[in-house]
Amino acid sequence: MREKMVAGNWKMHGSLVDNKQLLDEVAAGVDGLKEARLAVCVPYPYLSSVQDALRSTNIAWGAQNVSQYEKGAYTGEVSTSMLKDFECRYVIVGHSERRTLFGENNTIVAEKYLAAQRAGITPILCVGETLEQREAGTTERVIEDQLTAVIRLAGIDSLSQAVVAYEPIWAIGTGKTASPQQAQDVHSFIRTGIANENASIARELAILYGGSVKANNAPELFAMPDIDGGLIGGASLIASEFIAICRALH
Ligand code: 13P
Repeated sequence: MREKMVAGNWKMHGSLVDNKQLLDEVAAGVDGLKEARLAVCVPYPYLSSVQDALRSTNIAWGAQNVSQYEKGAYTGEVSTSMLKDFECRYVIVGHSERRTLFGENNTIVAEKYLAAQRAGITPILCVGETLEQREAGTTERVIEDQLTAVIRLAGIDSLSQAVVAYEPIWAIGTGKTASPQQAQDVHSFIRTGIANENASIARELAILYGGSVKANNAPELFAMPDIDGGLIGGASLIASEFIAICRALH
């Protein structure tokens, strides 16, 4: 059976003092939960302190972005080998905020995904449609294009070393969650599309849902057959919420 997962995406939030308190509480609250992967993806400057805080816990850590380049004159960028120095197990690639606010297109996202995998870091590949695209009936095509760019560059087999997160843009930070059935429909579309190329990879692939997941809606989302957990923004900054979401996997 594929492994379930809850990952927090802190986005551009945190401070040394706040992070420590949050992680101490979360680590105590999820202690003993073993059958699922738990992770937090944090801003770069905090990787070292988060590594120290989580080293002996069941929570992994990672980053929210990475350069597609190995090294060189790329001012402000962070490479996969730098993330490896801090033992990142995961990196988010293609988050909609990167795509829409920082100009990352499908090609760039695919390059970042491949760079992460080459370094032995598991990419959490985000896909999702805008409200206009949903209303225009193009959700499936948008998601197919996002996935196809990655599969074309890295190959279908690469998905055995990846996590996919479906994050409808209209549900991110808006308090508007996709209904469990709306999310399930897209998750099933993703899994079926991949199964057409490789059934066993599709069966084992964790597909997370992201977009206003909270403690009170996580159980019904996670109960859907193709929803294997969540990528959590705002609620990952509140210890009690994040702990409850992690526990909803079980
Ligand atoms: P929210 O949970 O704050 O809606 O954010 C979702 C998200 O973008 C996670 O990557």
